[in-house]
Amino acid sequence: MVFCFAVDKCNPVALTYINMINKKEILDNFKENGFRLTNIRKAILDLFYKSKKTLSCQDIQRYLKQKKISANKTTVYRELEFMKNRKVIEEFKLDDGVRRYEVCSNHHHHTVCLKCRKIKCVKLDKELSEQEKKIEKSNKFKIISHSLEFYGLCHKCQAVK
Ligand SMILES: [Zn+2]
Ligand SMILES: [Zn+2]
Ligand SMILES: [Zn+2]
Repeated sequence: MVFCFAVDKCNPVALTYINMINKKEILDNFKENGFRLTNIRKAILDLFYKSKKTLSCQDIQRYLKQKKISANKTTVYRELEFMKNRKVIEEFKLDDGVRRYEVCSNHHHHTVCLKCRKIKCVKLDKELSEQEKKIEKSNKFKIISHSLEFYGLCHKCQAVK
């Protein structure tokens, strides 16, 4: 039961993005390491920075189509893998199993609206390190990381009866 933490004390604060790496740094890093800035690579990066949202492969494909850049699912996934390995983006999965990606930033969590599926990045006032220590001790378990998302209804969806 990973989700048994005393989350009520954590008081999540909604933030759109938390200390996202700057785009120029990424481009410089690509250049320094001899990676080409292909059209598709540039378009995907642009989308991540423009939308400031978590994106699925489908979102990206839709955008590329709009931009008249032809890329199939395999190409998009290969590109996402590349960016993931370069620590430009990170991948996470929610209850629907869809792989979503966002630009790497400081450790944080998400709120997910069960109705409209809107996802927001949130940071806890108090991280879970105290709780982790207790779990490690009582379970003789070494924690390396954790993932904690909050499911519920967003402000808009609460208003719809
Ligand atoms: Zn909603
Ligand atoms: Zn996030
Ligand atoms: Zn955390």
